[in-house]
Amino acid sequence: MTSIDARRRITADRRDFNHYRVRCPFCDEVVGPRFVTREHLDVQPSAPYAATVRCPRCREEFEVIFAAGS
Ligand SMILES: [Zn+2]
Repeated sequence: MTSIDARRRITADRRDFNHYRVRCPFCDEVVGPRFVTREHLDVQPSAPYAATVRCPRCREEFEVIFAAGS
C-alpha cells in the first residue's frame, strides 16, 4: 500500500509537465505549469529542478521532481 507521503513526491519529465501530460497522484487530474504554487530554483542555475503543485480538482499539494536531462 502506498503511503500518503510517497504519493506527495512524483518524478516527471519537464517537457511532459509543460505539456500537461503529468497526472495528479491522488485523483488522476492532468496538471501543468498553471498549477505551480512554488518553484524550487535553488539547485540548478536555469530551469527549476522541482515544483510544488496544487491540483485544481482535489486540491492536494504535491512535489514534482523533474528528471535529469529533461
Ligand atoms: Zn488531484
